[in-house]
Amino acid sequence: MQEWFLTIYVKYGWLFSFADEFGDEPGFLDTPETKVTYTWLIITAAFAAIGFIIYRVVDLMQYLHVRNAKRPEDLESINDEIFAKKLKTKKGRWWKRFLGQSVSFGFQFGYIYGGMPLIVMVAHQYVSYSVIYVILMVIGWIINMTLSKIFSLWTPALPVQYHTPGKTWQSGLMIWQAWGMISWAGPVYFLATQGPSGWMGSVAFIWISQIIQLFVFIRHMKGKVVPYLEYEGLSDTFKENLKTYLASQGIKDSEVGVLRNSKMGPNAFATGLFGYRQIALTEELVRGYKDPSNPDFILKLDDDALEAVVSHEVGHIRGYHVLKSVCLGAFISSMTTVLVFYGFSKGGFFSPDYFNFDKATSAQIFSFFGQSMLNLMFMYPLTFLMISFTQRNEYNADTHLLETNGCKNGKAFFHQIRHIAPVANHAMWDRLNSTHPAPQVREERMKKWEDEHCS
Ligand SMILES: [Zn+2]
Repeated sequence: MQEWFLTIYVKYGWLFSFADEFGDEPGFLDTPETKVTYTWLIITAAFAAIGFIIYRVVDLMQYLHVRNAKRPEDLESINDEIFAKKLKTKKGRWWKRFLGQSVSFGFQFGYIYGGMPLIVMVAHQYVSYSVIYVILMVIGWIINMTLSKIFSLWTPALPVQYHTPGKTWQSGLMIWQAWGMISWAGPVYFLATQGPSGWMGSVAFIWISQIIQLFVFIRHMKGKVVPYLEYEGLSDTFKENLKTYLASQGIKDSEVGVLRNSKMGPNAFATGLFGYRQIALTEELVRGYKDPSNPDFILKLDDDALEAVVSHEVGHIRGYHVLKSVCLGAFISSMTTVLVFYGFSKGGFFSPDYFNFDKATSAQIFSFFGQSMLNLMFMYPLTFLMISFTQRNEYNADTHLLETNGCKNGKAFFHQIRHIAPVANHAMWDRLNSTHPAPQVREERMKKWEDEHCS
């Protein structure tokens, strides 16, 4: 153990500590209790920091890569002027993201390792632990709401992918964040009433709540889409061809539709819970999408390419990708919960005073802290795991497209999307951050396949 680091940490940590016995007398670093305390603090903090540092190093590689980017010559509607403009926007977004993620991590790190013990200590002079717990939850809710536009602070639960454009204080987002807090507090109830063995009730809660969220999401989608056969903006040839294709795939006509006024840009997605499923194309994708930063370009797919997009979504449905993602998310949350129960409950592996809390701190507050800390520690490793998982699903959905409808101009969507985002990312950055394989890689794969299989 680095003695100087321990000294600094103890001196700083002492400010927030209840362990008056540390004092300042020589030799206090040698007591077994102190060593255990600060060893755990340093191990968990270092673990949390490693993922963060790796991601920032790759961010810097991305910056150098983008700075030296050259205009791709195969994009017909991108001239030097437009490319320079897009490059500038991308650099601006890089800075915003880099600073946002650094501030977010620093803020969480400071709050979890320093702020929370301090808040609990000060507040306990005036109110009971159960009141403090409620206050911490409300603070968490307000911080999540206020900062959600700038960066994502820790979320209490791993939600089904959810994206909201527009205002911060809108009812949907407020309910969503409140639901997140409840799905955190609910499990803790089992911890407080049943001790470590309560993890079973908590894990059941996670799985049920995840399945309900998915079910509600699918039902919501089904209510919003117009079935493709009834949608006026699609040609009869397209409808006929798609009908034949869907029949061959065992997908009902009512399960593919167009999403009006999605505000999601040109996009398509699939969602499903076993036989309850929905594929949606946004209206912007079907009707054509005008690139706001390039007056010379409109993204518009021909009938064949649009059918290829649907084939990719069918690949997600047939591979049960949404269900698998939800299960992976729920499994990770379950493992975290088991860790929290055995680590941070009364009689658990960790003691509150290892982390500068009073020994008497309530199980709710200490588990709240434990879960925050585990979220911070595993934030980047889990991001990497989930990204790897979704990239694999996307690759497999492309494989399904090629194997079932490979001669239908599947490359067109990627070629056109590259006009909207013509600056390629560093390959390593894509590997760590992108939910999909890079568009130029997907376009290249489809082109090669067409050359080999289609005449
Ligand atoms: Zn996909």
